[in-house]
Amino acid sequence: MLTKDEALQRVLALAKTLGAESVPLEDAIGRVLADDVRAAMDAPPFDASTMDGYAVRAGDVVAHGAMRVVGESRAGHAAPELEARAACRIFTGAPMPRGADAVIMQEDAERDGASVRFRTTPSPSAFVRKRGEDLRAGDVAVARGTRVGPAELAMIASLDVARASVARAPRVTIVPTGDELRAPGHGGADASIPESNSIALAAMAARASARVTRLAPISDDLDRVRATLDEALGACDVLVTIGGVSVGDHDVVKAALEACGVRLDFWRVAIKPGKPLAVGTRGHAIVLGLPGNPVSAMITFALFGVPLLRAMQGDRRALPAPHARKLARAFEHKIGRLELARARIDERGALDVLAHQASGAIVGLCRADALACIPADAARVEAGAEVEAYALEELALR
Ligand code: AMP
Ligand code: MG
Repeated sequence: MLTKDEALQRVLALAKTLGAESVPLEDAIGRVLADDVRAAMDAPPFDASTMDGYAVRAGDVVAHGAMRVVGESRAGHAAPELEARAACRIFTGAPMPRGADAVIMQEDAERDGASVRFRTTPSPSAFVRKRGEDLRAGDVAVARGTRVGPAELAMIASLDVARASVARAPRVTIVPTGDELRAPGHGGADASIPESNSIALAAMAARASARVTRLAPISDDLDRVRATLDEALGACDVLVTIGGVSVGDHDVVKAALEACGVRLDFWRVAIKPGKPLAVGTRGHAIVLGLPGNPVSAMITFALFGVPLLRAMQGDRRALPAPHARKLARAFEHKIGRLELARARIDERGALDVLAHQASGAIVGLCRADALACIPADAARVEAGAEVEAYALEELALR
């Protein structure tokens, strides 16, 4: 069986980028930049005041001496000329009058009609935001491979650009399988259960900027599963199946994938939850066959599917970053597989492993803040010992 990291490397090795598309900035949040965004102009674009006050030539000011106030500069209006030995009224964001080199804030000024006295003398450039002090024309403002967040949106808009070149969104098709599954919200036969995985995986994939198609659950019938997967494979970049990938008599997904011509790369990973995880390809399409237990499905998709989708977009931060944290209490562990234990982060920042650790116990994920990584070879981890942990936010799970 592969370790988590070996399996992840194998999955990422399958990722090829899908080309770029231009989108309006409004639609670029969460997308990955396909090209560097360079400043076409200096930022800020002109010298401006950072305070409400008076623009002056610093050398003209004598502390407590009276100066004439001539003219004003306000935001959105062209800069006036500074008259010799005069002060010009100025407001935050307004362009510096030509000839002025400093601003004195109005809290340090005593205004008396058309003249003003200053309590201080300014140093040159005081309270002036200089043209080009953040970026020079031609500088890279945001590098390719950056996932666009609110600050990147503001940066690009501030450069007078209204579109972004981003990686094409991977098309993901999600196929739940199982005789027992029905759509939630309508009740059903005794032995049936609501299908709850695909809605969660679709939300996670959407957080990784995928375009998601969810199919209705299909029964555990080899021919029907094969026909559905065959058609889905023709129209997606990543096919995600749920359930039926283990070794039970009615687990038909692996056989159906092989019957569709999918070349399986591996199908088991030494993690808990989530041991059965089938990974393969057909042509350009990548297949992830996830286990059906809800917590297993979400955790395997978080650890392998989300990084894959991000890598397919050239995301420089495709992998979730773990952080070291102490365990609040000792943890007994069966040697063999890396365990991703659902844990709350307590007031002291320690990992408090929850009671709900069954791979079907969705409530455990709802109450958790992080997944604590209990090493495969540890029989027990003592209270206070450090382990790696993934915040659920890092995994697109919160
Ligand atoms: P399987 O991987 O098919 O053996 O399923 C393992 C467990 O997960 C069984 O209890 C299934 O009923 C349940 N399960 C499988 N698929 C889903 C799904 N899409 N939504 C909710 N539960 C599921
Ligand atoms: Mg099943």
